[in-house]
Amino acid sequence: MPNSGPYTIAIDGPSGTGKSSTAKELAKRLHIDYLDTGAMYRCLSLKAKDTGIQPGDAERLAPLAATLEFLFPEPGTVILNGVDVSKAIRTPEVSGRVSVDCAIPAVREVLVDRQRAYGLGRSCVLDGRDIGTVVFPHARFKFYVDCDPRVRAKRRVAELAAMGHKADYDEVLSNLLERDHLDSTRAVGPLRRAADAIVIDTSDISFEQQVERILSVVRAGI
Ligand code: C5P
Repeated sequence: MPNSGPYTIAIDGPSGTGKSSTAKELAKRLHIDYLDTGAMYRCLSLKAKDTGIQPGDAERLAPLAATLEFLFPEPGTVILNGVDVSKAIRTPEVSGRVSVDCAIPAVREVLVDRQRAYGLGRSCVLDGRDIGTVVFPHARFKFYVDCDPRVRAKRRVAELAAMGHKADYDEVLSNLLERDHLDSTRAVGPLRRAADAIVIDTSDISFEQQVERILSVVRAGI
């Protein structure tokens, strides 16, 4: 029997599979909140870069993570310590170090706590790498979105172009593969499919089909 009350939708998967766009669209159609957990890790890397902290410096990154103040006024907009960083967190420089910074266990501990606090008691969709396995292992709905890396790299180049960043396909592809490797081999919160997650491969389906597949499962369960 369908459940009533707040529900969590966990969407995990590698970089550039369309998770974030799908999650945003789901939030809009279901009238629920959306949290882009990758944006939190990106904010940390941005702040670390601006403060001169080297990638992977555990001693300085974990305390820095605890000082970050986030606001997510609407899907796609990220306010860090009062400043709109929505574009700044997507630059290749940040993408190039975020998977190293976020592998530090103490960093994950701080930011996972924030993610849990955000999701508590409200219906929301969260996307990331460890939402269904670590952040909300009891989420009512879990999806694992996958996609051919070449398709992902092409999509990411187009996304960056739309934001005014010119990116080289080969560089983007190697960054995606490098991040996949780091994300899936780290000791804490590695990228992996939760045993009870529904897998959706987006290589050959349209964005609308992707959204519809998830929506049909969620609508049947609420
Ligand atoms: O989702 P996005 O690609 O913006 O995430 C940026 C990086 O943050 C990922 O490559 C991954 O290393 C890290 N991340 C994570 N756990 C999450 C979300 C993102 O480790 N829940």
